[in-house]
Amino acid sequence: MEPFHLARQGKLGKQFVVVYEGSIADERLNDENGGYWVGLGTRMVDGESQPFPTADMLKEMSPYAAAVIAIGTCATWGGIPAAAGNVTGSMGLMDFLGEDYRSTFGLPVVNIPGCAPQGDNFTETVAAILMFLQGIGPLPEFDSLGRPAWLFTDTVHTTCTRGGFYEEGTFAKKYGDKECLVEIGCWGPVVQCNINKRGAINHVGGCMNVGAPCIGCTMPGFPDNFSPFYTKPPGTIVSSTVSKTTGYFIRNLRRFSMMYANRSVIWNKNNHVPSGWGHVEEASTLQKVSHYFYSKIQFHNSVRPGMKSKPHHAAQKKTEEIKQQ
Ligand code: SF4
Ligand code: SF4
Repeated sequence: MEPFHLARQGKLGKQFVVVYEGSIADERLNDENGGYWVGLGTRMVDGESQPFPTADMLKEMSPYAAAVIAIGTCATWGGIPAAAGNVTGSMGLMDFLGEDYRSTFGLPVVNIPGCAPQGDNFTETVAAILMFLQGIGPLPEFDSLGRPAWLFTDTVHTTCTRGGFYEEGTFAKKYGDKECLVEIGCWGPVVQCNINKRGAINHVGGCMNVGAPCIGCTMPGFPDNFSPFYTKPPGTIVSSTVSKTTGYFIRNLRRFSMMYANRSVIWNKNNHVPSGWGHVEEASTLQKVSHYFYSKIQFHNSVRPGMKSKPHHAAQKKTEEIKQQ
């Protein structure tokens, strides 16, 4: 424990960084009963060895630290211990140290939330801060809540592997379904978290990738603002209704284009798909007509592959312009 005590007294003689996990219970609530919530080492009180409250250790060490980093949603925002009914007065580091807190390098508290926090987010941020403290790297960008901006600006939804289902208006009805999970409780569209992109461990897993709706565990409002878990968020009434309506048309238009994308030039010419796996429907007259106009638009400014006719007027004009220059 000696380095801890030297650090809190400003006598360590070296720069150090405080990394704190867990919410901080309000030890003032114990003033009358003489107890404590969480201890780190011991100290002598009235000639007796008593637990040293972790909160006191943190309060005394922080002014001498080169940086203070909160890891996990409990340490950043208070988390589950600070939810409604909070009997211990638990809070996050920002609340505990106050908005005027600055490290010896002038940094406010750095916050890396998550319950549990994504490991690479933590190591990457620590590495970036250490390089800054060593003078061999710039100060990374943080948002107004002290989160690494490059990790926590985008929402879960923007990088979700199920985003295409949302856009086409198809939604999971039960756990295990492959579609978007918003109707069974996913808050991803309003939650800042990168786990879908980064994976849970070694780039593998991540909530939606393994079938779990987002319950907002990285957010300051977690858990109360996202409860009751596993029920449809109210915003879904508008957003998924719109997706269902527009998605229905878009989905069917895409299936139509996909039908032609699934045909080779030879099959189109022979008007037949020679598959031994099953019968492939030929395009109807309406579909052929639609595809004709679709192709017209597709090759409007370019030459259709295999065409022997003159280059398209626009392309020819462009060639002439280049010649004249
Ligand atoms: S599962 Fe959630 S995050 Fe993914 S697309 Fe649906 S609403 Fe968005
Ligand atoms: S996707 Fe949601 S529940 Fe999952 S880690 Fe991110 S914030 Fe937490």
